[in-house]
Amino acid sequence: MSDVPSVKGAWEAKIVTLFPEAFPGTLGLSLTGKALNEGLWRLTPIDLRTFGEGKHRNVDDTPAGGGAGMVLRPDIVDRALRVARGGTPTDPADWPVIYLSPRGRPFDQATAQRLSRTRGITLLCGRFEGVDQRVLDAHQVEEISLGDYVLTGGEIAAQALIDATVRLIPRVLGNQASTEEESFSDHLLEHPQYTKPASWAGRDIPDILLSGHHGKIADWRRAMAERLTKERRPDLWRAFCAAHGRDPNEDREL
Ligand code: SAM
Repeated sequence: MSDVPSVKGAWEAKIVTLFPEAFPGTLGLSLTGKALNEGLWRLTPIDLRTFGEGKHRNVDDTPAGGGAGMVLRPDIVDRALRVARGGTPTDPADWPVIYLSPRGRPFDQATAQRLSRTRGITLLCGRFEGVDQRVLDAHQVEEISLGDYVLTGGEIAAQALIDATVRLIPRVLGNQASTEEESFSDHLLEHPQYTKPASWAGRDIPDILLSGHHGKIADWRRAMAERLTKERRPDLWRAFCAAHGRDPNEDREL
């Protein structure tokens, strides 16, 4: 038993999935798992199969108009979503209903921040060719993508989304400062990290990091973050420059 009391009304992720055994998965490990055990957030998988029909509890059927694969039926998904949404706020700003989908808006740190400020989320994990559009429309489902590639199902995407969100909930990480200095805060990628030994395989930690001079270390880290962002992510670099009134084409020595 944990000595930290369970938080009443803690942030909750409800997950409609054909594979409830996939949860908590990696979310049950390390800091997210500890926080889950301590009641700082809650996880409720809902087995879509139990809403299926017939002896085999069928949940899918062939695509209208023909084509390969199967599509999750709207009536079955609707039943599961109604159960999942029972007792949760209807305003999507308080409790969004999200379908993990390659067609969705790309997931990013700003979305994780937004979701961490809700009271909870209901996630729908697709399988096969996806979900009948009508049930997505009927429940005003928001579609979120993990990236421009196709996964076999929504479960891994759901875990990534939950992980990135839950670690922003107060007390989950313990040291809140670490989330403020991470990649994507202020549109910048994080500076390189080093640890002991000071020299390894002929490679040394940059002298400045061993100088003990906190101001110079902060300047070096900032310069490295700017250089990496400019080199690797021109999209983020432009957003950073726009936010700071800087010229993205400036030739400043970093
Ligand atoms: N036919 C769909 C298409 O082309 O967009 C792909 C379906 S995919 C094989 C099955 C399920 O995996 C989707 O319904 C979705 O829930 C999940 N999925 C696949 N790729 C994803 C991604 N990039 N982000 C989030 N979820 C994804």
